[in-house]
Amino acid sequence: MKLPLALAIALLSGGLGLARADDTACAQREGVSVQILGSGGPVADDARASTGNLIWRDGKSVALIDAGGGIFLRFGEARARIEDLDFVALTHFHTDHSADFPALVKSAFFIERNRNLPVFGPSSNAIFPGLNGFLNGMLGPKKGVYRYLSGFLDGKGQEFSLEPTEVDARKATATQVFSKGDVRVQAVGVPHGRVPSVGYAIEVGPYKMVFSGDQNTQDPRLARIAMNADLLVFPLALPEEAGPGARQLHAVPSQIADFATATHARKLVLTHLMAASLSALDESLAIIRQRYSGPVVVAQDLMCLPLD
Ligand SMILES: [Zn+2]
Repeated sequence: MKLPLALAIALLSGGLGLARADDTACAQREGVSVQILGSGGPVADDARASTGNLIWRDGKSVALIDAGGGIFLRFGEARARIEDLDFVALTHFHTDHSADFPALVKSAFFIERNRNLPVFGPSSNAIFPGLNGFLNGMLGPKKGVYRYLSGFLDGKGQEFSLEPTEVDARKATATQVFSKGDVRVQAVGVPHGRVPSVGYAIEVGPYKMVFSGDQNTQDPRLARIAMNADLLVFPLALPEEAGPGARQLHAVPSQIADFATATHARKLVLTHLMAASLSALDESLAIIRQRYSGPVVVAQDLMCLPLD
């Protein structure tokens, strides 16, 4: 009997589409690891999903950090489960960090989860919504674009709801947004042009992970909570010779390296890669390696980074 071609391909690839074997490496291991869901930026020319990261612990996807375009697909490919999330941490409300969040919420309609889901994000300013404005704009019962999902915001008719905590991005000191067992999350404002943004220091057991968020490093607040990270995940969005406008939004390679060195990061992961940064990748890595002596990893979608 001859198999139809599509079925044959499905069987060869594990029966569930074309996910590669190592996409599920984090899901299959014990201990703590970080999985890069999306390693790209806001432009659709880099063949990468936009920004998103998972923290895994003993085969469970316990935390999602950012949910840009493409993360919905990668979340499933990684075999992550919304049931297992202890929290979602959003750094800011550019599309490449938040656009797939409502799609993931819709996905929760089809699962069984009976505990609320904490969500963290920055406060608003005159031009950008904060976390509450974002969630209301998406899921609010009266005017939300996806108001058919408003039960996940007000708890009506759903078994769980989102539990938002807005972090004041202007505050001088960090805010502890989560503490449960041996998991602790601190958030603090980071400088990303005029966009209210936060970075996160997340401790899980003996390990510390820092997600810098998009930023230019010209603000000392994150460094204070980022010391001695086992893993520092930092966007490499610009080449060294980027102009002053772009430098308001993002750090150039030398600044990323100096941040990693000053905070004694044990490993640096470069993500948020864009055509502009990829075309200068070799030069950028050379600059970073001159100024930072630890291991440097260039992220790829679905890459699994064990911490133990
Ligand atoms: Zn951004």
